[in-house]
Amino acid sequence: MANQTTIVVATNNPGKLKEFKLLLPNFNIISQSSLGIVPEEELGETFFENSLKKARVANTASGKMSLGDDSGLIVPALNNLPGLRSARYAHESATDDENRQYLKNELEKLNLNQAKAYYVCVLVLVRDSADPFPLIATGIFEGSVKTTMRGENGFGYDPMFYPKDSNFSLGEMDKNEKALLSHRGKAIQILKNKIQKLSSE
Ligand code: IMP
Repeated sequence: MANQTTIVVATNNPGKLKEFKLLLPNFNIISQSSLGIVPEEELGETFFENSLKKARVANTASGKMSLGDDSGLIVPALNNLPGLRSARYAHESATDDENRQYLKNELEKLNLNQAKAYYVCVLVLVRDSADPFPLIATGIFEGSVKTTMRGENGFGYDPMFYPKDSNFSLGEMDKNEKALLSHRGKAIQILKNKIQKLSSE
């Protein structure tokens, strides 16, 4: 680990942190919470603004390369909610379980037992405090949400998210399968390509 580059991941979400450790095996991934960095309120109107803010706060506090992840689930039939409010859909301090139940109720109010949906992940990597062009990568993961929840893997809305053309929910898939398909997996791949391109220039 001695010559691995350290990246501070600007999240307190243990589910995201596990995925970053899996997706970036050649980096020393540490969480901002392990450094006592407290996240700021998410006030941006886009995933990008929130992700940049998260990365900047972590970089300023740690002095290290920092990665922001702002992500969420978009359900067009629900006016694109939970969207930016995904972590706080049921209420400000909601658990994953409360958010899933809330989403289930919102679908049932429309007499739906499923609806098209997609996950979005916007990553921003701030390399140092004077970084004039933080690296940005976006990943999208298409599928549908169903009121039937299955499996306990992953986190957040995974037990009710069914990737396109799959009969299994993400809650039933193993972490490597999810990593290949997911919004976060795709965004990381784009980010890795950008890092490689820069280091070979
Ligand atoms: P953030 O910390 O504001 O980016 O919140 C992201 C929220 O979106 C999480 O708390 C989850 O509710 C949801 N979310 C994002 N990515 C995933 C995923 O890969 N699986 C399940 N839920 C996710």
